[in-house]
Amino acid sequence: MKIEFNQPTQPETGFVTLNSTELPSKGKQYPYQFSLQVQPYKVKDVLTLSSSTLDNLQKYDVVLAGITTQPIFDLNELTLIDAQSLALIRYSLSVDNPIFKYSVECPFCNNANSVTLTAEDIALKEPDFDYPIRVGNFTFGLPTLRRLKEFTSLSPNFDETELLLGTIALYETSSLPIQEVIKLLQEISLKDFQLIETFADKVSEVGVQPKTITCKSCSKEFQFLPEVLLLPL
Ligand SMILES: [Zn+2]
Repeated sequence: MKIEFNQPTQPETGFVTLNSTELPSKGKQYPYQFSLQVQPYKVKDVLTLSSSTLDNLQKYDVVLAGITTQPIFDLNELTLIDAQSLALIRYSLSVDNPIFKYSVECPFCNNANSVTLTAEDIALKEPDFDYPIRVGNFTFGLPTLRRLKEFTSLSPNFDETELLLGTIALYETSSLPIQEVIKLLQEISLKDFQLIETFADKVSEVGVQPKTITCKSCSKEFQFLPEVLLLPL
């Protein structure tokens, strides 16, 4: 998906308003439609985002703190791809030429490559499959910030497959503690589990896409995943 950087902004405040259906997820798994008013970052936000004491999911709290919703919607229920998109939109509202600077270590020779991307270089892959989907007694969809946070708090006891599978369990299980969801997932049939794994594979490809770069030292190509929460001041 291409983020639209020329959205009409309010001249006085620089904010932009969009509807939940305009987000990359199209709002398909939210219980109701809502509008979002997105504010530019302030200096203190960028300083907080630069802090190494926050993990990535905590950094989304900083991104979402500058967004108000009408009617009120718990932004922890946002899907990850929508949160990534809002991070790009907030940044694009904040400076004239939004760029991201990375130091990417080459997996072949360990050279630290400096990479600069514009916000428009960062492509978000929208889901190209049907969701939410029903499998057995579960309905599965895209991972939400809330489920990702719950799972991260449990790691390192769970491997990535379980993390992803549990993260995407929705609706019937959304009010259950995450440990209960994991127990329920272990009770399903192997056939259903295979279906869920196939869906989970597709889900893992949604959102920020890897970039291919050529190492400046050994000239070999490799991929890295651009981080959208790393802002230069
Ligand atoms: Zn290299």
